[in-house]
Amino acid sequence: MKSPKVIIEPTVWKNITAEVAKWAIKGKEKSSSPLECVFYPLTAISLRKEQPLTPFDTINLADIEQFSIGSVFIPPEKYANYTAYSASFSSENETENTMQEVFTKAIEQEIKLQPQLYFLCPGHSHPFAVGTTSPSSTDIEHHMRPYKRKNEELLGFRFSLALIIVQEPSQNDAVVKSVYNQYAWRACCFALDENEKVQNLGFAEIANSNQYFTPFYQSRQGNTWESLQKAFLADRLIEHERWPGGWTSFLIKDNPENATLVMLPPKFPSQQAIKQSISLVTKQVGKAEFWNCGRAYKNYNLGEVNNARYVRPK
Ligand SMILES: [Zn+2]
Repeated sequence: MKSPKVIIEPTVWKNITAEVAKWAIKGKEKSSSPLECVFYPLTAISLRKEQPLTPFDTINLADIEQFSIGSVFIPPEKYANYTAYSASFSSENETENTMQEVFTKAIEQEIKLQPQLYFLCPGHSHPFAVGTTSPSSTDIEHHMRPYKRKNEELLGFRFSLALIIVQEPSQNDAVVKSVYNQYAWRACCFALDENEKVQNLGFAEIANSNQYFTPFYQSRQGNTWESLQKAFLADRLIEHERWPGGWTSFLIKDNPENATLVMLPPKFPSQQAIKQSISLVTKQVGKAEFWNCGRAYKNYNLGEVNNARYVRPK
């Protein structure tokens, strides 16, 4: 099996390495050992095959072509409980729940802005390691395994992803000493696969990727198009939902016994919609297939021609 590639956006990498360096330096000043730290990467995924895939399908590690880290949440310093060999959080004056809420809200906010991103597992640093490392048994038992199970249950992803930041081996003394330098660090990438085995995905590449975009429904065009569809479907629209990864679904009643589930992928309309028939009686679902809803999209374009409101202001 070819391992999925991991790519980190340069701006995200700067944020991660600044945090890693900050705690490494703090530790060195206090006790001569650098401190570990934790961060929450948010990841877009691309699959090897362009297949009719719905937000309800099960995805294994082998199906992934690339993980693209497009954002990161750095936990507020007041919660950090970091040592030279462990990293956890404590809430001090607040309740555990309040702290959890701060973390959850921050991640939700980020995903709302970029819905194609998923939170797959926290990342952390092994600032004492040079060149390479591997997840400790604590990393596997307390991060990778629980998140793998959570991802499977909530997202249909039968894996978790862990980034561990280590020192970049370098002959250049100046680079090593200036730990704030983003080139002083590298990201070792690991995944826990469907059999709960650790897979080494190698080092992350720091590069721009084309995985980040505004989903159709967040654009003015898409918003208008959806409103038109809703008005057109009226009572036949049973449900209209947003899903992780930037998906949208319309559940449309065909007759009292059958409905059609139309799923708009994150890159709709440049990526085709998918439809599935659903029996309203037995709740059985038919096979997912690509569906050309180009006609409906054209309807919107006609609306644009007839409606001067959408002319771009000068
Ligand atoms: Zn670790």
